[in-house]
Amino acid sequence: MKQDLKSMTLTEMQQAFKTLGEPAFRAKQVFTWLHRGATSFDDMTNLSKALRIRLSDQYYITAPTIVRKQQSKKDGTIKYLWRLRDGNCVESVVMQYHHGNTVCISSEVGCPMGCKFCASTLGGLVRRLAPSELLDQVLFSQLDSGLPISNIVLMGIGEPLDNFDAVMQFLTLVNSPDGMNIGMRHISLSTCGLVDKIGLLAEKKLQLTLSVSLHSPDDESRSKIMPVNRRWNVDTLLSACRDYFEKTGRRVSFEYTMIDGVSDSPEQAELLAKKLAGMQAHVNMIPLNTVEETGLRTSSREAIRKFQQILENHGVTATVRRTLGSDINASCGQLRRKFEGTQKEESVCRSGE
Ligand code: SAH
Repeated sequence: MKQDLKSMTLTEMQQAFKTLGEPAFRAKQVFTWLHRGATSFDDMTNLSKALRIRLSDQYYITAPTIVRKQQSKKDGTIKYLWRLRDGNCVESVVMQYHHGNTVCISSEVGCPMGCKFCASTLGGLVRRLAPSELLDQVLFSQLDSGLPISNIVLMGIGEPLDNFDAVMQFLTLVNSPDGMNIGMRHISLSTCGLVDKIGLLAEKKLQLTLSVSLHSPDDESRSKIMPVNRRWNVDTLLSACRDYFEKTGRRVSFEYTMIDGVSDSPEQAELLAKKLAGMQAHVNMIPLNTVEETGLRTSSREAIRKFQQILENHGVTATVRRTLGSDINASCGQLRRKFEGTQKEESVCRSGE
């Protein structure tokens, strides 16, 4: 069984090369090649032919292929559908902001969390991604688009904290000075609220931004739209967020989807403000993006304005998220693991077919 070389950190690679009887600097050469997007050992021209053959006997190099690439005519946002080594597919989105280019990456093929408004979870979880597959989305988005990526958001398909170890390994990889060297402060991780894992993450004291998908301040409506709330309710989640801030010194950001008749009442705005009082928090309001299968609708402009006003009256900072790539279905919660095309195209993204 060959091993996944790109999922290894430089230190792990140096160890592995030692057992091959190779000097440590060779590992650094290989690491650099991989993190520049080399897809074959034959590309690594500063290694001897013999070493290249030995490596290819023991390791494989992941390299997703582009099944589909769409670019928004409105704002230049690019959405990629990648085909992975085993035939599964995931999406990533490159967004251009004045402060730099951001890539939104997927953490799993499908998602086990079952949020009622989200397209990514419709078919459940297929599998978790490897560290290399997380890195590849950043690397190949940059290489293909020609847009230097300075920021990463783990807000695509999947629940990053459900794939905890691989995501932590990915952070080490992408943060490496010998690799893409993207600083932790330029990375955001979004979770639906896995409280045990928020605790583990806090222990690591990383400087990344934690975003929590709250979407409702009361257990009754949150449990309706987010099954995870039945395991860890709103108060338990908010208490984990307070601990997170205490341990890391990093302000937690809350995502709040505005769903007509579900999460957008003035009473809910009041309750949210009350629950966030005294907390270093920021609320990111997201008008619901329509996913046909869900039957849920976005709130009216008036309801959104009023909700934001109530939060601000209570001193809670709230912004309404700008929607990018809406003409190519690249907005929040609309990413899918399957290609919504003809049968023939869809089968491209399934393993074993
Ligand atoms: N699993 C993680 C990250 C992926 S989703 C999480 O739950 O946070 C990224 C954000 O998009 C989350 O806040 C999610 O709740 C939100 N989202 C999902 N479906 C949406 C939709 N249809 N409209 C608007 N936001 C949505």
